[in-house]
Amino acid sequence: MEYLIPFNRPFLTGKENEFVNEVFRTRNLSGNGPFTKKSQAFFENRFGFGKCLLTTSCTDALEMAAILIDIKPGDEVIVPSYTFVSSANPFILRGAKIVFIDSKNNHPSLDENQIESLITKKTKAIVVVHYAGTACNMELVMSIAAKYKLYVIEDAAQAIANNYSFSDKSKKFLGSFGHLATFSFHETKNISSGEGGLLVINDKTLVERAEIIWEKGTNRNAFFKGIVDKYNWVDVGSSFLPSELIAALLYSQLQSLDEIQKKRIAIWNQYKNGLKEWALLNDVEISYIPEYSGNNAHIFYLIFNTSEKRDNLILKLKNKGILSVFHYLSLHKSPYYKDKHDGRELVNSDRYSDCLLRLPLFVDLTEKEVTHIINIIVN
Ligand SMILES: *Cc1c(COP(=O)(O)O)cnc(C)c1O
Repeated sequence: MEYLIPFNRPFLTGKENEFVNEVFRTRNLSGNGPFTKKSQAFFENRFGFGKCLLTTSCTDALEMAAILIDIKPGDEVIVPSYTFVSSANPFILRGAKIVFIDSKNNHPSLDENQIESLITKKTKAIVVVHYAGTACNMELVMSIAAKYKLYVIEDAAQAIANNYSFSDKSKKFLGSFGHLATFSFHETKNISSGEGGLLVINDKTLVERAEIIWEKGTNRNAFFKGIVDKYNWVDVGSSFLPSELIAALLYSQLQSLDEIQKKRIAIWNQYKNGLKEWALLNDVEISYIPEYSGNNAHIFYLIFNTSEKRDNLILKLKNKGILSVFHYLSLHKSPYYKDKHDGRELVNSDRYSDCLLRLPLFVDLTEKEVTHIINIIVN
């Protein structure tokens, strides 16, 4: 059915045509051209990231991460169960065993306090997913990782332009903590190029190899920089570069980052203010931001105390032409993984699978429409 208010509508900034036409005019069509370089520089300068490489998706960036940290059969990787399959699949592809970790009681992101009990001699990495763009406790994660010498990979697919506040109130952007971090520019994310992603390499020792893996296992990038006089096959790799058309689309969106974020945060706040009293009276949890996290307004969610109540609201909104959606199904119970899982119960992940609902949130959603959605929910 056609919804009057969809769950998501990709936002176009109006600069897309100009930038994409520039690609046609200059005939720089393949990857690693001017718009790729400008986009990468934007992330490095704006967010204080290490080396940035555009990829064709966040999934691809995670596959690069798995190759870069040399995941081998027998290695264990700790991954939340309540996440998208791409947080786990790239490590499976390289033969790792996934050790699923439960979510927090008060937030769908991983419970940092359970990490240490899951670490074994075989553990190689922790994948931290900032659910809803909300920060995980990165001081705690990084200190555990340092203690056991583990890699931290931030799956920051949803976390663009958000930060973590240290106890002394200083802030750092999400994506600048992990040895590696990945972002998504899929059309459902805050900034979009339809499909697209980014690998952030904060660990300087991994940069040179990252550029090689990115260029199909060749040292082509070093050749272009004049460092070597021929380029050759030097390592494994694959085709991870997006074309300049994608990069031009992404760069046009980046020009409007502040405007996009301002609008999304306004919608998020309108939901929060309009629903908090109703939520309290009806034992519903609404989007929660811990004191150490900023808010990038990627998702506004409600958590009911039964799945029936969640499904009823989805139906009620649907009958009014509004699409609200549930989110992940626990990966440890998925058809692909359930027989490989070690049998531990992950109760919070299951609860979010059953009881969480996401409300429409996109730049073109009007104040009036949000008021309308709130009125349907509370009445
Ligand atoms: C969207 C998303 C991905 C996948 O991003 P793609 O760019 O579509 O590959 C991975 N992890 C999380 C947490 C996501 O939200």
